[in-house]
Amino acid sequence: MKKLFSAIIFSILAVATLASAAPRGPFFTPQRTLSTVEDFQTLKVGDTVAQVCKVCDSVSTVEIKSKEQAMEYCKDGAMLNCPSCKKKATVTVRVGPRPENRRRTVTYVDEHGEACMFLAKVTEVGETH
Ligand SMILES: [Zn+2]
Repeated sequence: MKKLFSAIIFSILAVATLASAAPRGPFFTPQRTLSTVEDFQTLKVGDTVAQVCKVCDSVSTVEIKSKEQAMEYCKDGAMLNCPSCKKKATVTVRVGPRPENRRRTVTYVDEHGEACMFLAKVTEVGETH
């Protein structure tokens, strides 16, 4: 029983390693990091988003219930709370410096301006521990 469990954990880790080693793209990553405003605009009602807190290493999942809710996550200056450690992060949106690449990058920073959280779209909802 215990052996089976560690085998499952191992295979999950293997998948995660493969995913991070693969080229970035929607077809290679099972969990897509939401890093630009454009990414958030593709979210639909019913999608699940994982909120990863680097402060306490927790992952919370949020169900998208409205477009407005999705856009709150990429609104410059908005606040995001970690449900686990109650840490607050500020949504920061930066526009790319090059005219041909005007992607608006979304980051979640703490009071020191350090990225402390990120969001990812969960394509398949599994157990979170
Ligand atoms: Zn936290």
